[in-house]
Amino acid sequence: MIINLKLLESGKQESIEYSNIFSIAEIPFEDTGLDFIEDFAIEYTVEKVGGDYSIIGKYQTKVKFPCDKCLSTFDYIIKDNFSFIVMKEKENDDELKDEDDIIVISDADYELDITDYIRENILVSLPYINKCSEDCKGLCSVCGANLNKETCSCKNEYINPAFNKLLQNFKD
Ligand SMILES: [Zn+2]
Ligand SMILES: [Zn+2]
Repeated sequence: MIINLKLLESGKQESIEYSNIFSIAEIPFEDTGLDFIEDFAIEYTVEKVGGDYSIIGKYQTKVKFPCDKCLSTFDYIIKDNFSFIVMKEKENDDELKDEDDIIVISDADYELDITDYIRENILVSLPYINKCSEDCKGLCSVCGANLNKETCSCKNEYINPAFNKLLQNFKD
């Protein structure tokens, strides 16, 4: 995912459009541990804005996740828009380097590889909890049955402790 900034710097072009499709074997994010099951498609436009550059684009792919509740795997579409500002390195701009959407380059960098920035973007967009569906019933905590697929006869309904006390009183 290399951008040739020289083309924009020379003024020959006002913007460059990139469009790439990586087959599953070529996706450069194997270090994320994500289980890709579809090509990774990405497109973005780079434009010169004053002395800086803007990159605006989107990507899409599909991965397989294990559900945190019932452990069965399910397909999940990763799809997001992104935008970065590319700035040339100046003095006293240490603060800028900490901004997620700002890429600082040195004056001599005519080629910019955005692979690492896209990887970061994917990782922060992932759900905190992986659920196969909003109403996944999970596994029975007693016998381990997948409650989405079967019912079991374990008694593991939750009873409010206060209510339980009340029931006890009736029994006595
Ligand atoms: Zn589930
Ligand atoms: Zn059970």
